[in-house]
Amino acid sequence: MTQNLDKIKSNIIKSAELISESKKIVLMTGAGISVDSGIPTFQGTEGLWARFGKPKMNAFSEFIKDDDSWWNREINHQRSPYVMELRKAIEKAKPNDAHFSICDIQKLGKIDHVITQNIDGLHIESGCNNVIEIHGNRNYLRCVGCEKRYKFLPPIIKKPPPCDHCGGIIKYDSVMFGEPIPELILRDSKNAIKDCDLLIVVGSSSTVRPAAGLSWIAKSDGAKLIEININDTKLSSECEIILKGSSTDILPRLYEEIVNL
Ligand SMILES: [Zn+2]
Repeated sequence: MTQNLDKIKSNIIKSAELISESKKIVLMTGAGISVDSGIPTFQGTEGLWARFGKPKMNAFSEFIKDDDSWWNREINHQRSPYVMELRKAIEKAKPNDAHFSICDIQKLGKIDHVITQNIDGLHIESGCNNVIEIHGNRNYLRCVGCEKRYKFLPPIIKKPPPCDHCGGIIKYDSVMFGEPIPELILRDSKNAIKDCDLLIVVGSSSTVRPAAGLSWIAKSDGAKLIEININDTKLSSECEIILKGSSTDILPRLYEEIVNL
């Protein structure tokens, strides 16, 4: 079901009012926000799964079983076609109007934390502060043991040495299928959600845990929810306001509305 233009306009005004009344706002983003930066989503009819098939969900256990072989394949570019396509898209991607509008709203003192499921690093690149990248960041490596992160510049031509802090195995910071969310990140996310009175969920299908779980925690703790998405999601029925449309269209208008209140 689409919303007509008047409905969207009035919902943007309502959202701006709710944002200005709220004391602690967290904004959570999913793959939808980066589509207009040219990054394909996993799910959906045009998504990577639809085109390449869903990969096995055991990448992390395969990595832990034999990290030497994993890094060998990586260095020799023996990765699945969907991984290569995603990487190429991320390498080229730049923040879009949705990312920049979030920064603008944050500069008004209105967004406490941004929690993202995306690994593309575009929130940080756009200048946002307090960004929690729950699935990691493509531009970092991370120790499996102590979670220390290391910035790196691609391409990697040999297996990274063990962690200089604890001697643990190093992997990409991006969370693999089957890999638990790093404990420190999960703790930061839960702390950010705690006591928030408004959660804005942008471009997330709200099906992937634990990010989806955070929305339900916020809701059950009494936060109000605003959803910005082109589609209905599992979260839609729980939301105070639904802004149906692309985030690159809605978020700049929302920023203007907040400024003009
Ligand atoms: Zn370590």
